[in-house]
Amino acid sequence: MVQINENYLKLKAGYLFPEIARRVAAFAEANPNAPIIKLGIGDVTEPLPQACRDAMVQAVQDLGDRATFKGYGPEQGYGWLREAIATHDFQNRGCAIDPSEIFISDGSKCDTGNILDIFGSDNTIAVTDPVYPVYVDTNVMAGHTGPASDRGEYGGLVYLPISAENNFTAQIPNEKVDLIYLCFPNNPTGAVASRAHLQAWVDYALHHGSIILFDAAYEAFITDPDLPHSIYEIPGAERCAIEFRSFSKNAGFTGTRCAFTVVPKALTVQASDGTTVDLWKLWNRRQSTKFNGVSYIVQRGAEAVYSPAGQAQTQALVKFYLENAQIIREQLTAANLEVYGGINAPYVWVKTPNGLSSWDFFDKLLHTCNVVGTPGSGFGAAGEGYFRISAFNSRDNVNEAMARIVANFKG
Ligand SMILES: *Cc1c(COP(=O)(O)O)cnc(C)c1O
Repeated sequence: MVQINENYLKLKAGYLFPEIARRVAAFAEANPNAPIIKLGIGDVTEPLPQACRDAMVQAVQDLGDRATFKGYGPEQGYGWLREAIATHDFQNRGCAIDPSEIFISDGSKCDTGNILDIFGSDNTIAVTDPVYPVYVDTNVMAGHTGPASDRGEYGGLVYLPISAENNFTAQIPNEKVDLIYLCFPNNPTGAVASRAHLQAWVDYALHHGSIILFDAAYEAFITDPDLPHSIYEIPGAERCAIEFRSFSKNAGFTGTRCAFTVVPKALTVQASDGTTVDLWKLWNRRQSTKFNGVSYIVQRGAEAVYSPAGQAQTQALVKFYLENAQIIREQLTAANLEVYGGINAPYVWVKTPNGLSSWDFFDKLLHTCNVVGTPGSGFGAAGEGYFRISAFNSRDNVNEAMARIVANFKG
């Protein structure tokens, strides 16, 4: 008889976004004229930068000429893109990352899941609570957890609660964990990590021989000059951290698909027979075997992000979303709601009023304001009593949604 990967059966049925979609669809069916504004799912809304589009059009032309045609590219990505990334995102910030340590991919979502291929099955794994659900679910699928409890917590994972009480930065555990997922600026809370906080994690990881899986998908939203953009700005991180980056949020590539993962060559782990193994070699082997690279057209589009025009246009995009976030913060505050995040991140994390549960607040906002957000409890048990509002939308929609909330909640 065929066996399936029964770990999939442990996954919680009512995944967050389908449940949101179900409730919104039911409401829309009952209220066909309700002008619903969605500030829920973290997807960008504004068009691709001109520089990226121009580069992709040119790349299509390249493919139309025998002399410049491209077939399979390198599994790790084209050298010119890896070099542009190494220079602009790392070396210009004082991080000694070499182009060969950068692996181009079609998404950080895939990479944060796929990275588990190179690790064993008996690691102790820590995640924050709330958390980006991909880190948890990919570990469930890989059989690294027990079943989910009533609270929705999987046996075998170490949950590090983050809340207003600890400034949304996890307390560093006393016990040893092997793999730690960190995401800064954070989805869903919009929180950031200071240099000192990241240094404490790096020190912990070096002391225990742990590995930090650092998701920096939102680094472009950092406006505070004192905040690190990359974990490799922290001394020692090249010996204990893998970093995930994406063009999805800074350049609007959520539908275009391009990202990259940094695996420093200094990152080594002891195999069970005591030999020292380079994780770079394992990831290189994994990618070479299971992945055939990102399309030439898309990589040319990503390369254009680093051109002077691309830099100006992506910065303008990020600035636009951050202004949305500022409007959301100001208006929700005016509506007497308690807000966090949204300064160096496109997400505002709202404390639900009057002790409402996250889902009760979701329903209330949907029914009274026709505004859709994301219940904090969907990101983990400790997200209960919070609510995420995304700044990814048009200015008109943001203004309109906020006006409705102020009208309903003020006073
Ligand atoms: C959007 C997002 C990403 C980017 O995912 P892609 O697959 O590159 O689009 C990665 N991590 C987090 C936490 C995100 O919210």
